[in-house]
Amino acid sequence: MKPHERLDSLHRTLSRASWIVPASRREAWLAEWVAELSYVYTQHPASATDLAQGIVHDAATMQRLYLADRYRAIDWQAPRLCVGLLGCCFTLLLAVTMAQSQLRHLVFSRWGYGAFACFVVLALFSLPSTVVTSRYGAYEAYSGDAATMVQRWARWRFLAAKLVFSVLSCYLLAVHVTRPFQHLLGAQADWLLMACGLIFNVVAVSWVFTDQLQRCPTCMRSLRGSARMGPPSWGLLDSSATEEMCDRGHGLLHQPEWQTSWFENARWLQLDSTWRDLFRP
Ligand SMILES: [Zn+2]
Repeated sequence: MKPHERLDSLHRTLSRASWIVPASRREAWLAEWVAELSYVYTQHPASATDLAQGIVHDAATMQRLYLADRYRAIDWQAPRLCVGLLGCCFTLLLAVTMAQSQLRHLVFSRWGYGAFACFVVLALFSLPSTVVTSRYGAYEAYSGDAATMVQRWARWRFLAAKLVFSVLSCYLLAVHVTRPFQHLLGAQADWLLMACGLIFNVVAVSWVFTDQLQRCPTCMRSLRGSARMGPPSWGLLDSSATEEMCDRGHGLLHQPEWQTSWFENARWLQLDSTWRDLFRP
């Protein structure tokens, strides 16, 4: 291989591989490889070609390590992530719906508006029963007045965002699930849609309230570090419960194993600010 062809080949390999490297580290990575290749090329040109075979692998490793760092940096307890995932789920279902012309016309037709209205009514009807079954209404952490108005408003916004995205996603999912049966059932498929709507709404709304209970009432982050307290099944003479904590040090959720007359609901133990130093920021 002639010298200029060898240099062109090295340049192309380096240029293509650099696109694999994350943009934030690309410049430093390129500078390092150019320095390495230049030094080896001046000593022994053929060795530079051998060294260049590792460029793509090195770039792929850089990208893999970068993605692993990003994954580890995800704050899985954050309420923003929960709303973001629900929003992505709804956006994906909407994009799939819009991509199919038949479904698009169906959803935005008079039938679609009527079906959506029925779906929302079913969701509203499922609210009282799911509040009771999830014991959200009896949860003492949300009934106290220790929280500030801003924290209460944040809870309601978070709850409302989850409900809206969940119900909208369930509606589109129900349309997708029942659509193949419309050819077989005709107008009867509307009842199938309503049945799916009822089931999907109950499941989704129950999850929304259960998830809300598993979060810190102060910062809305998911509780973690579940720990058993007391011997199992000793509900009469001793405390048998599970405790979870907020990783920002706002408090502990104490959930009894059995519902008793003296310990009926989960209790939230609010910690004062002196505990915050023990928890990670
Ligand atoms: Zn908290």
